[in-house]
Order: sequence, then C-alpha cells, then structure tokens
Amino acid sequence: MPKHGFWNKIIEIASGCWIWRGKLLDNGYAQFNTIVSGAPKKFLVHRYAFEAYYGELPRWEKNGDLELDHLCRNRSCVNPLHLQLVSRKENLERSPLWRENSILAMRAGQSSPRDKAGRHYS
Ligand SMILES: [Zn+2]
Repeated sequence: MPKHGFWNKIIEIASGCWIWRGKLLDNGYAQFNTIVSGAPKKFLVHRYAFEAYYGELPRWEKNGDLELDHLCRNRSCVNPLHLQLVSRKENLERSPLWRENSILAMRAGQSSPRDKAGRHYS
C-alpha cells in the first residue's frame, strides 16, 4: 500500500491514541481510499496499521475467527499498540452475557456452548 497521504492524516492525542482525520465509516472505523495498480481500493486503517507494525496476518480476510479489538475502545484510533488480535470466541467470552449463558447452560446439565464450535453464538 502506498504511504502517500496516509500518515499525515493521523494525529496523536494525549491518551496515546492515533486519531484518524480522514473518512470514518458509519460504524466508526477509519477508512482509507487509495489507488493500487490503477484500481481504487479501500482499507480499514486500523487493520493496515496493525499489519504494518506486526507483520501481515495470513488468512486475514477469510478467517472469520480473528478480530481486532480496540483496547482503548476508540474505533477511530489506528495505533497498533492499542489493538489486540483476538479470536471471535475470545471476544465473545469477554462479554458478560456470553458468560452468563454459558453458566446457565452448564447448570441445566447441557454441554457448555464453549464445546459447540464457538461460532454458534456469533
Ligand atoms: Zn487508541
């Protein structure tokens, strides 16, 4: 990805967040439009920043089990140090609701949702 026009769209704020000053999607994530080999291409900025810092993530697009979690809870932040790669399952397990359902299921003598290939609850 060409770096032209990319880094100068980022400002760092006191919290250490790198705030994207370019386009934000409706869901709050930062997006970068550029031209690659003559064709327009869109990037999610935080994902690009993460890969630029930690290295490319194989099966990134296809593997629905992986998600980037914003530790700072600021979706327009693109600081790779504020991002953590987690599995969808891990992300769900952090959710109090998921944990509660899991406990209820175990109490009822059913197998835990944990045993049912995770994606069940996505
Ligand atoms: Zn941040």
